[in-house]
Amino acid sequence: MTKEQWAVDLAQNINPANIKLDESLQQYTMTKLGGKADVFVLPETEEEAIAVIRYAHINNIPLLMLGNGSNMVVRDGGMRGIVVTFSHLDKIQITGDHVYAQSGALIKDVSKLAAASSLTGFEFACGIPGSIGGAMAMNAGAYGGEIKDIIISSKVLTKEGDILILSKEELELGYRQSSIAKKGYYVLSSEFQLAQGVQEEIDAKIADLTFQRESKQPLEYPSAGSVFKRPPGHFAGKLIQDSGLQGKGVGDAEVSTKHAGFIVNKGNATASDYIATIEMVQRVVKEKFGIDLETEVKIVGDDL
Ligand SMILES: Cc1cc2nc3c(=O)[nH]c(=O)nc-3n(C[C@H](O)[C@H](O)[C@H](O)COP(=O)(O)OP(=O)(O)OC[C@H]3O[C@@H](n4cnc5c(N)ncnc54)[C@H](O)[C@@H]3O)c2cc1C
Repeated sequence: MTKEQWAVDLAQNINPANIKLDESLQQYTMTKLGGKADVFVLPETEEEAIAVIRYAHINNIPLLMLGNGSNMVVRDGGMRGIVVTFSHLDKIQITGDHVYAQSGALIKDVSKLAAASSLTGFEFACGIPGSIGGAMAMNAGAYGGEIKDIIISSKVLTKEGDILILSKEELELGYRQSSIAKKGYYVLSSEFQLAQGVQEEIDAKIADLTFQRESKQPLEYPSAGSVFKRPPGHFAGKLIQDSGLQGKGVGDAEVSTKHAGFIVNKGNATASDYIATIEMVQRVVKEKFGIDLETEVKIVGDDL
């Protein structure tokens, strides 16, 4: 079957305006790198989301779930198969101290709405540029908080397109990991338990965390955030800094001079420049300190 046929078949259940052939993924990823998706689909309802997942499964078509693309590097040859994003499923609802958010809702919007309702617990995530789906898959965390601390449950789809409600325990949230990532589930929505807080304290915490992020992170350049996981007993950024790698890179990809854990796209980097810079960092840190740096960012797709 051709990609054109996939698009025709998908259009039976999904608004054709939301099915795109040969769509560049650069605009959907924060590194602004990478090639095209054969077919890119943006379902608008849970029913449409289920239809995409089932179609890919039944026809054995590779499927990539993209969130807000803030932790994803797509290689220059792009993605074969279907790339789906739930960015149109972005409803957020607050009832008392309980938050419901669909997977395409942005973490920063949930954090903002929670704060506006004087709810505390979500402040740690105010500057994480991902979606709720990506945050669930990665158990996103910052400044001593993580998704695990506030999650009640998630509604997910299995690879076959069946709905499951997973409890906190069943989500198996650990450092940048979850049963969602392990088992290949697709998050539809999540529920969080927050607590009533003091408005001034919530606002002050968000202002402080925003200041810390803006002063320490190279937010002026496209990047995927911290590229590497924290190796046990160490900080990746410190190892990279102590290896003298800041400012070094391949092509227009560079280890940030502001935050050594970030690799930035200075303008015209290719995915292959970015990945070569990742590998250069891994090689040098291994030589200097004998430590293997594992990537936190997901590298997907084909080389050119
Ligand atoms: C400037 C910057 C700062 C950052 N700071 C932090 C930080 O402080 N803390 C932190 O934890 N992260 C941070 N990140 C990384 C990133 O924002 C998080 O990992 C975020 O949770 C990823 O969400 P996303 O929607 O962008 O996911 P994507 O990058 O699109 O995808 C990441 C993974 O999640 C999966 N995924 C996405 N949506 C779903 C879904 N609906 N169902 C199942 N799987 C899904 C994808 O398949 C992929 O495997 C930062 C990134 C940047 C660029």
